[in-house]
Amino acid sequence: MANRTIITIYTRQKTIARRLEAFPVRPCPLCRQEVAAVTVEAAAGLLQIDMGELSRLVDGSVLHKLATTLGASLICCPSLSLALAQQEKEVRTEEP
Ligand SMILES: [Zn+2]
Repeated sequence: MANRTIITIYTRQKTIARRLEAFPVRPCPLCRQEVAAVTVEAAAGLLQIDMGELSRLVDGSVLHKLATTLGASLICCPSLSLALAQQEKEVRTEEP
């Protein structure tokens, strides 16, 4: 019988979001402080989720949505960081 070697490869992607001065700062009613904010599109891109999943995270208060005076929506960066950390934790628990 021939020897067989099974190689399992796990990949992991880590995204670090740093606050840039260009990011707008807004009051977040849930964090109760001024927070840096990103567009909903940027938040969905960082989390690698679609807009439907992003809406579910906003509805579940995982992500904090901030309304702007121009009617656009932004996502609170501290809540985004927590969501990213949660995602990474989920990846880690899938590993043997
Ligand atoms: Zn917040």
